[in-house]
Amino acid sequence: MSKISTVKGFADHLPREAAQFNRIAETARQVFAAYGYREVHIPILEYTELFARSIGTETDVVQKEMFTFPDRKERSLTLRPEATAGLMRSYIEHSIHAKEPVTKFFTHGPMFRYERPQKGRMRQFHQVDVECLGAPEPQVDAEMLLMLMEYFSALGLKDLALEINTLGCKECRPHYREALLAFLQAKPVDEFCEDCRKRMDANPLRVLDCKVPRCKELVEGAPRIADSICPECKTHFATVLGILERAGLEPGRDYKISHRLVRGLDYYTRTTFEVVSNSIGAQGSVAGGGRYDGLIASLGGPEVSGIGFACGMERLALMLPENDLDKPDFYIAVLDAAALDEALLLAQALRKNGLSGETSYNAGSAKSQLRKAANSGASYCLLLGGNELADGTVIVKNMDSGEQITRRRDDINNLIIK
Ligand SMILES: [Zn+2]
Ligand SMILES: [Zn+2]
Repeated sequence: MSKISTVKGFADHLPREAAQFNRIAETARQVFAAYGYREVHIPILEYTELFARSIGTETDVVQKEMFTFPDRKERSLTLRPEATAGLMRSYIEHSIHAKEPVTKFFTHGPMFRYERPQKGRMRQFHQVDVECLGAPEPQVDAEMLLMLMEYFSALGLKDLALEINTLGCKECRPHYREALLAFLQAKPVDEFCEDCRKRMDANPLRVLDCKVPRCKELVEGAPRIADSICPECKTHFATVLGILERAGLEPGRDYKISHRLVRGLDYYTRTTFEVVSNSIGAQGSVAGGGRYDGLIASLGGPEVSGIGFACGMERLALMLPENDLDKPDFYIAVLDAAALDEALLLAQALRKNGLSGETSYNAGSAKSQLRKAANSGASYCLLLGGNELADGTVIVKNMDSGEQITRRRDDINNLIIK
């Protein structure tokens, strides 16, 4: 019979990957909880209209990349391409704004896109997503950035750079947009890539973050948004940067202002940011986010400002340092079949004491049993044979040093000293 494989673009997480993803989620829980962010879970499936309205029908995501299909009654459904839209829908649907002035929540899980799968871009991928709603103050932005960097540090990630920019507001951005458009149109327009030529009228800001080398050259010397924003936006941005500095982040080293960091959609305002890694190649963005106003209102909710970010869990998993967190404490090697039951009960007693490990389900030679112990990665191997069974002892072997001693089995607290 032919074998059945995973659906194209979907991947299994075997124990190693599952442990990495668990660590990423568990660390998020610990760090974000310390800042008052609470975990929520939302469905992975929504009505297509939600994403069309929140992400915008003109975007590549909605036009080309969504995992969309009709249900049996011909309603259009979409597997979520990102978490923000669903979180906003949930916030509005449960009238959370009427119950609490500021809402801080996060979620994590699978997201989907229907693109041709390629290395590092799967149709099912995973994100951690964080949002703070109802607080327009710059202190919120600064605190979120500090929390994000704290999260990465707790994960043991290194070589990260925080890039920040401001996008102004709906009062001042149109002026910038005009100035930028004038600059771009003075260039040899047909030398821009096809995407940029299309973007230029609809969304000239997006031309600034094009990755095509010629486009990058052409936007050299473009007017900077930070130079043309209104006084309120300037103060807001300066306050964010001031707090980061007072919290110990050094400009140029720990963060830098990136004038070309922009977001495509109109509802993005003021602070926008990205964390890039130098360890996974040139375009190694590990997190991105920013402030948005008007998004919630565009989905039928109240006029509430928001700020949030998303991190790609696959990227984080690639960057995680190896550690021994998941190493078991013991493996019980059984040298005599008569000791099998006793080995299992000994393992139970050790687990009750907070240790982790396994026992062999069949007896064998010391050599073969020690090989199993080594394969399990355990720190200690406990050897139980006929002699030990009879005299109430067990041999405890330190798998790193090779040192072994004989101990009484009922001295359970002292069998393994971690
Ligand atoms: Zn402004
Ligand atoms: Zn381009």
